[in-house]
Amino acid sequence: MGEKINVKEIVKKKKEELKNEVDKLKAKGVAPKLAVILASDDPASQIYVGKKRKMCEEMGILQEEYILDTTTTTQEIVAIIEKLNKDKSVNGILVQLPLYKHIDMDEVLDSISEKKDVDGFHPLTLGKLFIGEKETFIPCTPKGIMTILDDIGTQYVGKHAVVIGRSRIVGKPISQILLKRGATVTICHSKTDDISKYSKMADILIVAVGKPHIVTKEMVKPDSIVVDVGINRVDGKILGDVDTDEVVNVASKITPVPGGVGLTTVLSLLENVVQATKEQNNIVNE
Ligand code: NAP
Repeated sequence: MGEKINVKEIVKKKKEELKNEVDKLKAKGVAPKLAVILASDDPASQIYVGKKRKMCEEMGILQEEYILDTTTTTQEIVAIIEKLNKDKSVNGILVQLPLYKHIDMDEVLDSISEKKDVDGFHPLTLGKLFIGEKETFIPCTPKGIMTILDDIGTQYVGKHAVVIGRSRIVGKPISQILLKRGATVTICHSKTDDISKYSKMADILIVAVGKPHIVTKEMVKPDSIVVDVGINRVDGKILGDVDTDEVVNVASKITPVPGGVGLTTVLSLLENVVQATKEQNNIVNE
């Protein structure tokens, strides 16, 4: 019988460290600030923006929001971003995805200054991550996954990591990070024939699909570590992509949903805002 990872405890510890960093910056007269753009009527996005606002308040990070209605055009969003790029008081810019369907997401994301790209989705940021450069922002969900894996003392070298999902925001970047850390990585997706053939070989299994309980206990290697990224709303409940209550009997450790990767994702965003603030003010890590 394995255990559900206490992500809340990890986040509590990390929040204390982050608050400390913010306080030190403020003592130097520097106040980190995040600008958030919401151009969507997706209720989940509104909840995520609310969670980010709350954690900013807790950490003492300034925040301003641009809530845009359906008449907003791509050009108008790009104009807001260009203004924020030049605004020295703003250290990080986040565009909450998904956007209204008529908005060109690539054009919007590409207009964010690489120096303020705290969500880590700009092609240059992702390109740097893929070639292994250190000085870049790591996208928030993959960064949050690594916070959990590192905290529980995961070994990567010589291990086989299997990632199910190949999205720009989770699957692809987490695969690259695990590769860089020394794991042998297999990426599965909707066209993979017989996913369980690969998942059963995984010492570390990352599931980012968006299908409730797609991973069952028969698909998991005994004593493996399983990270469930999925957030699925089913009959008013939040379910992960992994059937956690079953899989916990096979795996050694598993992240819960809710109360798992979602918590470290928000934390990672604010860590990136603090990193951006330091870089923009030439403050070196102590
Ligand atoms: P996405 O962009 O929709 O990508 C889903 C990936 O899963 C795609 O690569 C897709 O393959 C693959 N896939 C779809 N059906 C599959 C199947 N039956 N078998 C194997 N692979 C399949 O989703 P995402 O943005 O990566 O998000 C994935 C999940 O994580 C969602 O539930 C989302 O809500 C959640 N999420 C959570 C957090 C958090 O903070 N906890 C953050 C981000 C996302 P193809 O590429 O072939 O289409």
